[in-house]
Amino acid sequence: MGNCPGFYGQLLEQSMIKDRFDRTINYMRISITDRCNLRCTYCMPDGIRCVPMRELLSYEEIAFVCRQAATLGIDRFKITGGEPLVRKDCAVLLSMLRQISGVKQITLTTNGVLLGDHLEELMKVGMDAVNISLDTVDREQYKAITGADELERVLTSIRMAAGRLPVKINCVVQRGVNEEAPAQLAALAKDLPVDVRFIELMPIGAGKKKDTVPNDAVLGQIERCFGKTRADDSVHGNGPAKYRRIDGLAGSIGFISAVHGKFCKECNRLRLTSTGDLKPCLCYADVIPLKEILRDGEADRDERIREKIKEAVLAKPLMHCFEDRDNITEQKRMAQIGG
Ligand code: SAM
Ligand code: SF4
Repeated sequence: MGNCPGFYGQLLEQSMIKDRFDRTINYMRISITDRCNLRCTYCMPDGIRCVPMRELLSYEEIAFVCRQAATLGIDRFKITGGEPLVRKDCAVLLSMLRQISGVKQITLTTNGVLLGDHLEELMKVGMDAVNISLDTVDREQYKAITGADELERVLTSIRMAAGRLPVKINCVVQRGVNEEAPAQLAALAKDLPVDVRFIELMPIGAGKKKDTVPNDAVLGQIERCFGKTRADDSVHGNGPAKYRRIDGLAGSIGFISAVHGKFCKECNRLRLTSTGDLKPCLCYADVIPLKEILRDGEADRDERIREKIKEAVLAKPLMHCFEDRDNITEQKRMAQIGG
């Protein structure tokens, strides 16, 4: 029996699911709510009509899906939304996922407003890392972008989390709004051990009406301010970010060039929406619904959910078409999909 853990470890390591283009899919982003306490101008400036609570998957239903996903080798989960921390007891879900055999990583993406209030409980249940969205360090600009006067609370959350677990700050640059913010945000990595990342604005949600600032321009601004950067090839997470180092900064600077640096060949993910749809690609409206199966009470639900996960993996397209806006079929907001 002494070698059992190794044996099972090997079995778990062997489970791996690939899509039609030979990409290994091992990561699922899970939206737990479409609600949010902010109104970011590129996401949902006027809010959304929220779906009734009964339409959202329960934490038990989400954990059920994750258990099936883990048996297929999808063993890294990111909790997102909407704003995940506006849903009650988010930490309970994390602890449920933590108990699933074979799960390698559970992380959270938040706007940071409520993170300070929940950090201790989230860390206690084993949150591995946190992404905090922050587009500016200027109070008035923050209010203009998010519709709320919460900058100080977000900065406090960042200071509380930094150094205790891996923290990534995510910034979306909007032309004519916060174009000068990158260098100021990068400066956060001077004193704090945080990665600061720049996500190119995608033509999703209210972002459809906006122009994307290319990450090359962001890098240029950062290098003008901090001097030459150098490539950082160390692994920072599960995503497509490319990292660079700057002498004197505690953290790295990351670039998620979703539009100008098409990284689809490295795609490793599925999305699960808060209403129980599996989404093969952010760009297209196609989904594989799970809720009916989850709620029909039949004994073979586990097998049928696994089949649906496989179907979603096989439905992944070769690439997105963000550069060709007429062909984007997704009409929902990022908060409804799960960004
Ligand atoms: N509310 C949480 C937050 O803001 O981190 C989690 C959900 S939010 C939809 C996840 C991420 O998506 C945020 O970093 C946000 O900036 C980003 N996002 C939303 N709309 C976007 C768009 N059109 N293009 C690029 N990123 C977007
Ligand atoms: Fe809310 Fe995040 Fe969308 Fe901003 S980006 S409105 S914080 S869901």
